[in-house]
Amino acid sequence: KIRDRYAPSPTGLQHVGGVRTALFNYLFARSKNGKFILRLEDTDRTRFDESFVQNLYDTFNWLGMAWDEGPDIGGPAAPYVQSERTETYREYANELIRMDKAYYCFCSSERLEEIRKEREASRSSETGYDRHCRSLDSAAAAERAAAGEPHVVRLKIPLGEVTRFHDHLLGDIEWKNDDVNPDPVLLKSDGFPTYHLANVADDHLMKISHVLRAQEWLPSTPLHVIMYRAFGWDHPEYCHLPMVMGQDGKKLSKRHGATSIDEFRRQGYLPEALINYVALLGASYEEGKEIYNLPELAERFSLEKLNKAPAIFDYKKLEWYNGQYIRMKDDRELAALSLPYAAASGLFGTQGQEPSPEQERLFTEAMYLIKERISFLHEVPEKIQYLFSLPPLPPAEDFIPKKGDLSGTVKLLEQGRPLIAPMASMNDAEAEIFIKEWAEKEGVKLGDIMMLLRVAVTGARVSPPLFGSVRLLGAEESLKRLDRALE
Ligand code: GLU
Repeated sequence: KIRDRYAPSPTGLQHVGGVRTALFNYLFARSKNGKFILRLEDTDRTRFDESFVQNLYDTFNWLGMAWDEGPDIGGPAAPYVQSERTETYREYANELIRMDKAYYCFCSSERLEEIRKEREASRSSETGYDRHCRSLDSAAAAERAAAGEPHVVRLKIPLGEVTRFHDHLLGDIEWKNDDVNPDPVLLKSDGFPTYHLANVADDHLMKISHVLRAQEWLPSTPLHVIMYRAFGWDHPEYCHLPMVMGQDGKKLSKRHGATSIDEFRRQGYLPEALINYVALLGASYEEGKEIYNLPELAERFSLEKLNKAPAIFDYKKLEWYNGQYIRMKDDRELAALSLPYAAASGLFGTQGQEPSPEQERLFTEAMYLIKERISFLHEVPEKIQYLFSLPPLPPAEDFIPKKGDLSGTVKLLEQGRPLIAPMASMNDAEAEIFIKEWAEKEGVKLGDIMMLLRVAVTGARVSPPLFGSVRLLGAEESLKRLDRALE
């Protein structure tokens, strides 16, 4: 039975890397009919902030990814919040001490700091704890701890041995025990567990079968395997996911652009586009197919489809996806999604003003004019502004075709004026035939008359399609704009 998990520490906003980890776990569970679990690893109380928990829920809610067990919905291994499970971790730490696989350490932080400084001064390559308390008499140490002397509990890493494990992606991995973090802390002096203890205990208690996590956790894995063996438990299968890099080959960070999902959301990305793109960060599915929704991804996902090489985050590609998903929306959906951006920009009056029913109708109808022309929802208001208010009169030179002068232009515009009224009641195909025939008959270049009408009606040489604009504005308003240009 496949069970995997996303185990974020709520110490920051949800970002691309975390969401990729969550998504791969989600897809793996779905592809195998397994269970996807959310667990909050909130034992670092100094960096904890409740708002990050809210952000976690908001993000996955928006993305449309749901877990099968988690803090909000419970489940057989509840609670799924580590700060509510501290008693369990203390028991496990005690069990390791009883088995002589862990020990009490009474070293003060001052002493640890001194070691660090000494090493720095002598340029020693040694790092981490010097195992000072490892050789204390265990009965005496237990007495000191029981008497209330401040202490931590450390893992007793078996020295002179090699720890081996298999990673789905990276293959067989071995690590000399003498090279892993020397006797890491499992239980802190405040009685809270460290990541290592809580993570291992919970993966065991929650019957996690597969750990899919970022490659930066790889150095912790030998340590975890040592702990599983110390407890006499089987460890889950491991798959460390390829790194996510910026275009410059450095770890993706704020320097490269938006990384928090919140930011993408505010910029007008659609959740479908993010899911689709993030699912491709380090995995390839089908040759030649680029568009996948969540169920399609779940159908195709497997660990064999993961790539070893780091994934490069390409903002341009994500933008392309966003455009694709915008085009897949029907006008109503697209209008509903982009309306908040339009209201905020002041499209319907003052900034933040909601549309009147009439404005809303026009807004919805305008979607088809711009759907092919935008990559982001926030581009909508600017693109259709001219339908809601009179655009500034363009300068005279904007009206003049490549080969032509102003007097010829005025003549042509006057000549084309009668086209507007019939055009306003035609569909695109009819209008096209109509204006083509007219241009032929009059001996006028189609491009020239189209450009002139466009500049007069929309106020710009580059705009959404002319025919639809005239239709949505209506004959009267379109003629008014044309006459304004002729003045
Ligand atoms: N709490 C860790 C994190 O924030 C979990 C790492 C793991 O999946 O083991 O990423």
